[in-house]
Amino acid sequence: MKTSKAKKKPAKGKPKKKATQKKAIVAAPKPVVIPTFDKDATYKAFVTGKKVGFSHDRTKTVGASEVMACIRKVVASKHGVAPDPGFDDIGGFAERGNHMEEWIAGYMRTAVEAAGGKLLFAGQSTQTTLRGEFSSAIPDGIAVGLPRDWLKDAGVEDLGEGQCIDTEFKSISPMFSKAKLPKVQHIAQCVYQIGHIRAGTEYRPEYALLIYVNADDYSDITPFVVKYNEKIFQSLVKRAAQIMGTTDFNKVLPEGKMKGESECSSCPIAKRCLGFRPYVAGDDPQAPTPEQVAQIETLAAADIEAAKVLDEAKKKKAETEAAVYQGLNAIKRNFVKGKFVVHAKKTTPQLRYNTEMLKKRIEELGGKHDDCKAETKGGASLDVRMV
Ligand code: SF4
Repeated sequence: MKTSKAKKKPAKGKPKKKATQKKAIVAAPKPVVIPTFDKDATYKAFVTGKKVGFSHDRTKTVGASEVMACIRKVVASKHGVAPDPGFDDIGGFAERGNHMEEWIAGYMRTAVEAAGGKLLFAGQSTQTTLRGEFSSAIPDGIAVGLPRDWLKDAGVEDLGEGQCIDTEFKSISPMFSKAKLPKVQHIAQCVYQIGHIRAGTEYRPEYALLIYVNADDYSDITPFVVKYNEKIFQSLVKRAAQIMGTTDFNKVLPEGKMKGESECSSCPIAKRCLGFRPYVAGDDPQAPTPEQVAQIETLAAADIEAAKVLDEAKKKKAETEAAVYQGLNAIKRNFVKGKFVVHAKKTTPQLRYNTEMLKKRIEELGGKHDDCKAETKGGASLDVRMV
């Protein structure tokens, strides 16, 4: 017997399902918790277990990947400041970099050998530490025996007598804008590596090949050529000496915060880094002494004096400007050329976005204007006032 079911009407307000829309045949599995398999503990055990040992104590020198990191963070790490409670230092990000490095080294070896050269010290098993007094570098590779014009398509006519280059490998998130590559700290890292190679080996590279590989798509490879600069190398070595010679991290600038705080999110001492904020007297064992307060007061007084002079100058400027306008009006001219050129220009109205109109329009279209907000970069400000 045929039975007929009354067709269900879609609930009011809900959009009708399209006839072509298929029902899910298999329910999508959800992440599960398996008590016998602690995924986080397994990760830690695995990553910690395969960490390679370094041939020297890394707390005694500043490495190439650290030299341009936030100086405050590096000072803390070199002088035994314990990480914030709960901070986990075996994040997946660094692990991704280590894992990919082996792959990129293999890729680079293929390219170098095809050109008749050899890739030395690439890959974790052959990496070499080159040491200065306070600085050190572990190159990702030195490509030797290359034709002198190997990089001519990249604008380098001649690699020099050494016929070698430093190679530096980086993995990048596909979300990272390539327009922002190469990163400044990676350029500095290459210069630092080359300086150490030149000082500590028989090789004299003049260039580095800095290679970025998309962590989502290994075929997406972006190389850059970095030229060695002796002056920059020496200034980086000086920076390394400053880091090793400073024991209190509060005595150096919070560069992570100055650069927009992206580095701060993975910083081991973020909870204790006060940025530019001074210690509040009575709240902190390191509160400033009366002498230190007096010293800051002297500087603040000079700043207030300078602000007064600036205010006066601004007032004076408004008065002189008004007098010039009056003078031009009196002679009915908007342009006079003598010792000076005086030109009173009219500005034409310009079309600019009106935020209120935009907000209204977004809401009319069914959107929320709050969804269009993006966080701005953090900065620093200084407020100096008389009490
Ligand atoms: S929190 Fe930011 S500014 Fe402070 S030490 Fe860490 S990286 Fe540097």
